[in-house]
Amino acid sequence: MSAMILDGQSLAATIQAEIAAEVAEFTHRTAVVPCLAAVLVGENPASEVYVRNKRRACERVGMRSVLERLPADTTQGELLRLVRRLNDDASVHGILVQLPLPAQIEPSAILPAVAPSKDVDAFHPENVGLLVQGRPRFLPCTPQGVLEILKRNNLTVAGRHVVILGRSDIVGKPLANMLVQRGVDATVTLCHSRTKDLASLARQADILVAAIGQPRFVKADMVRPGTVVIDVGINRLADGSLVGDVDFEAVKEVASHITPVPRGVGPLTIAMLLQNTLAAATQGTVNGQTT
Ligand code: NDP
Repeated sequence: MSAMILDGQSLAATIQAEIAAEVAEFTHRTAVVPCLAAVLVGENPASEVYVRNKRRACERVGMRSVLERLPADTTQGELLRLVRRLNDDASVHGILVQLPLPAQIEPSAILPAVAPSKDVDAFHPENVGLLVQGRPRFLPCTPQGVLEILKRNNLTVAGRHVVILGRSDIVGKPLANMLVQRGVDATVTLCHSRTKDLASLARQADILVAAIGQPRFVKADMVRPGTVVIDVGINRLADGSLVGDVDFEAVKEVASHITPVPRGVGPLTIAMLLQNTLAAATQGTVNGQTT
């Protein structure tokens, strides 16, 4: 029997409607409009699309969005100055530096410069540390999107074996951390390019999350019948089409549930960014005074 398709697009629309109601209530009560500043350096076409989608989503839920655009030859010092200016701007609540950055700029020099209280991507070392300790200030957007898909489709995580393919700082590692927190209670196996016999580990999963950036890497014979399959990957093929890290057509005949690409995890990532921006505005504003 074919898997149930987990529609991230319509779930994200539901969550955005909830956030819009919260933004309206917050703005009514405090006269503050939550604001996300996006920083885009250079002209990467995929980044342009991501930033445009994030800004449109902000506007849909009643938030303000600001775009700071810098040329491809921007120096690290110039970008740092912009980040510091946004840190000091009380009308900006969330700051998003779109990755990847041009080669002359080291992300590890920029991301820790974002004020932790405005770090809505949750990349700052302080926010990563808080997350690992189980008292997060912000939840990283893509991993939290994965958890929302599971939760809102009533898919049990506690006690289940989750196998994650990919150990990046953006997806795999924070997701593993969140899944093993007390109260979430999954058992996690985190795989990467040096993992031995990855296919047999994948077959042991109750929930399989693919986040490696390899088109259609996960084949049907890597998935045990009845597994929940979450595809985080976004890969553009030569013909311009987008595919995930999972061979969707074959795997949907084996899995119990599966996310499509597009319309899967991607829209949830944006919804979680909005949630963090509202949280940043709420945390930074007491009785209408910006702190
Ligand atoms: P990275 O390139 O930062 O990390 C990829 C990870 O996958 C690494 O840990 C790497 O291992 C591992 N890997 C790569 N190839 C293999 C392989 N053949 N076997 C096992 N492990 C492998 O990627 P990201 O985490 O940033 O992104 C992963 C995918 O998710 C991409 O397609 C990206 O576009 C997508 N993405 C989607 C988002 C969304 O909103 N839906 C958000 C963010 C990313 P090692 O560490 O050993 O090199």
